[in-house]
Amino acid sequence: MIKSVCRIGRCALLLTIVASDITAQPASDASARRPHVIIITIDGFPARALKDPQLPMPTLRSLISSGAVSSGMLPINPTVTWPNHTTIITGVNASQHFVMANGLIVLPPDGSALKVEPWVDKDKLVHARTLYDAAAETGLTTGQVDWVAIYGANNVRWQFAEKPDVNDDIPKELIARGLVTHDQIEHFSQNSSSAWRDQVWTDAAVDIIEKHSPDLMLFHLLATDSIQHQYAPLTPAAYSAYAYADLCLARIVEAARAAGTLDQTTFFILSDHGFATSTHTISPNVALINQGLIQKKGDSYTGSAWVKAEGGVAELFIRDASRRAELVPKLKAYFATVAGIEHVYTNQEELALGLPAEANTDQAPQLYLAAAPGYSFSDDTTGELTRTNPPGGVHGYLNSMSDMEALFVASGAAIKPGIVLGPIPNLRVAPTVAKILGLQLPDAKQPPLLEILR
Ligand SMILES: [Zn+2]
Repeated sequence: MIKSVCRIGRCALLLTIVASDITAQPASDASARRPHVIIITIDGFPARALKDPQLPMPTLRSLISSGAVSSGMLPINPTVTWPNHTTIITGVNASQHFVMANGLIVLPPDGSALKVEPWVDKDKLVHARTLYDAAAETGLTTGQVDWVAIYGANNVRWQFAEKPDVNDDIPKELIARGLVTHDQIEHFSQNSSSAWRDQVWTDAAVDIIEKHSPDLMLFHLLATDSIQHQYAPLTPAAYSAYAYADLCLARIVEAARAAGTLDQTTFFILSDHGFATSTHTISPNVALINQGLIQKKGDSYTGSAWVKAEGGVAELFIRDASRRAELVPKLKAYFATVAGIEHVYTNQEELALGLPAEANTDQAPQLYLAAAPGYSFSDDTTGELTRTNPPGGVHGYLNSMSDMEALFVASGAAIKPGIVLGPIPNLRVAPTVAKILGLQLPDAKQPPLLEILR
C-alpha cells in the first residue's frame, strides 16, 4: 500500500519535470542531437474518453499540454489489434500488409474451422516494410515490448515479447534483477492477470530504455483491451484500467529521463482502435450449418465456407475457389437479411474499405459482414443464430463508426506544444516517425504530420 502511494507521488513529481523539460527544450538543441522515438500503444483506448475532464490520466494530460493531440485517430479496417499495430509502424493498410486478424488466418485442408495462428514469423505475416526494419538498415537500434505481428523479427535488437522467451537478453536481465522468476517467464500468460502482465512489460520497457536507449522503441499495453472486453468501455472498471495505463506511461517517461535521453525523445501515445458496447451476438457459422455448407462429422465440423468473427465484423472464407461464383451472391443475399447485419461486402467491394484483394493473398475474405451498432459476431457453431448478452466491449466495427476512433498524442523533442488536430488517419503515424528518425518508407503514401513538428 505504502509502495503504491509512493509510486503515485513520484509520478506527480515526474509530471512537473516532464512538462518543464519538454516545453523548455529549444528546437535547435533537439535537432542537433540524435533523436529517439518511443511509440506506446494503450490497447483499445477510445478517443472519446479524452472528452471527460475527470479522466484519471495525469501523465497523458501533461504530454498533451506539452504536445499535440488529435480529436480522434481513424484506424484501418479491420479495427482489430494486430492489423492496426502493423499499420502504425508501416504506414500502409491491410490491402498491402495483409494482416487481417491477430495472427495468420489458417484454412485447414481437412475443411475444419478456421484458426488464427499468432506465433508465425513476422516475415510470413507482415507484407510491408516496418519502421524497425528501416531503422535497423540505417544503423539505428530498436527495441520492442509486447508489440504484435513481430514474432521472429530479425531487426529488433532488444525485446520482451508478448510470449516472452526465457533465452532473450531482456527476460534474463529482469530475472537477474529479481523482477520476475524463470518460471513466471516460462508460464507468462497462464493464470496471470492482465494488470500483472502490463506491470512486467513496463518493467521490461523501462529496463530497455534505461540500459540500452534504443533509437526506436515500441511498447504495447494490453490490460485496457481485456478489461473493456469484459466490462465495456467507459465503465468504472475501464476507468481503473485507463488510470493504471497512465501509471505505466509515467514510468516510461521517467525511464527516458533516467537514461538521460528525455530531451531527445519524442513520444507517440496511441491506441489501435476504440471500443463500443454490444448486447447481441450473431453466430454466422450456425447459419452456414443450417444451409448445409458446414457438416457435423463425429465431434467436429467440416465445411466449404467458414466465418472468422472479429467482433463488429465477420470474415467469411470460401475455401474452394470454384464454388465462389455460386456461393458469394447467394450468401451475400442471405446475410443481408439477418437482423443486426448492416452491410455485406463482396471481396471486390472490400477494396474500398482498404482490405486486400483475394487475388493477392489467402488472407482476403470472400465476404465481409459488418454488424450494426449493438451487435457483434462470434465463431460459435451451436446455439441460436442471434442471442442477447450482457453489455460487453467490442471493436472490429467499420472504421467509419465514431466509437472506433483511437488515441493520438505526440509529445517531446520533435513536437510543437499546444497543437490540437482534427481527425487524422493512423496511416500518417509511420511517415511522421520516419521523418523524425530520417528513415525511408517508400510504400507509405500518406504525408507526415509536418504541422506538429518543430
Ligand atoms: Zn487492440
